[in-house]
Amino acid sequence: MFEKFIEAFRDRLASSDKIIITTHKNPDGDAMGSSLALMLYLRSLGKDAKVIVPNRYPDFLHWMPGQEEVLDFLADPKLARGLILEADLVCALDFNHPSRAGEVEHALRKTEAPIAMIDHHLNPDDFAQMAWSDPSKCATAEMIFLLLEALEGNTTFTAHVSSCLYAGIITDSGGFRFSNTTPLTLRIGAALMENGAVPYKIYEAIFDTHSEHRMRLMGYALRDKLRVLPAYRTAYISLTAEELETYHFKPGDTEGFVNLALSIQNVVFAVFMAEKDGLIKMSFRSSGTFPANEVASSHFQGGGHLNAAGGISQDTMQETIDRFVGLLPTYENELKKA
Ligand code: 5GP
Ligand code: MN
Repeated sequence: MFEKFIEAFRDRLASSDKIIITTHKNPDGDAMGSSLALMLYLRSLGKDAKVIVPNRYPDFLHWMPGQEEVLDFLADPKLARGLILEADLVCALDFNHPSRAGEVEHALRKTEAPIAMIDHHLNPDDFAQMAWSDPSKCATAEMIFLLLEALEGNTTFTAHVSSCLYAGIITDSGGFRFSNTTPLTLRIGAALMENGAVPYKIYEAIFDTHSEHRMRLMGYALRDKLRVLPAYRTAYISLTAEELETYHFKPGDTEGFVNLALSIQNVVFAVFMAEKDGLIKMSFRSSGTFPANEVASSHFQGGGHLNAAGGISQDTMQETIDRFVGLLPTYENELKKA
């Protein structure tokens, strides 16, 4: 798949000038890191490359090279739509179904430009003319590294490109610590460092720049809103819109809360639920063999990876919690042996 993709991508690139790079809604470090790295690389080839995001990304990514030129679709939908429709090539990174692209979905379906999808999630949709899907990769940023290496014939990248890719890899691998981390991930990390990425600075910029509001919200969530269900080796945290408001919530403020619940001894399944935009957004994490994505796709209109998935619920918070807790007995055996 990789060889075929590279060949098609290289061909298309040669005849493309206007290139749009887009990613999933609520962009995370991998979405932004892989998009910006590809943008910077394509610009170094003299291409007119732009990143369009479906909505805002968190402040802790605002240090990334090239981010000041990112176009938020919601800020100027008409302009963004026009750019996508008139592009010579559209690169879809870190998502594998048009519905994950939020407001960008319609333009993606409408554009006549060929779409090149590069992604590491399970069960890809076939919306792209060129696709490279590899769920064994820990981050899309890892795949962009391999793409640039294949196109260039070497692993010499600029410090800016390297920093973006490094940021993408550490967000999706939890700093080289989740089960998706492979020897290749570590080798790529080393190569990026050799090319100018400075790990401690990137780590600090992403993980050690929290606002006081976020820390207070975390304290509240852990003290008052964490529920542990030892019989099901499950823990969950829920936050209503009102509670988020009280703590001056900003995008990114609840990043990682679900992992706090998962870090409790003997907990193998954790869920974070937050009321946003009139619905309940759910983040699922599991350890071992327990399929978080199965729960998300079967019951909460979502999906994702085995150990990290997401979904939504249109019910009220209390109904969502009740429905979630009510499901646990059906997974009792899997939770026990995970
Ligand atoms: P997070 O909990 O960080 O928002 O998402 C974790 C993972 O779950 C993402 O990398 C993505 O694979 C998946 N995911 C999150 N939300 C959704 C969703 O609404 N639908 C699907 N299919 N996957 C999601
Ligand atoms: Mn990713």
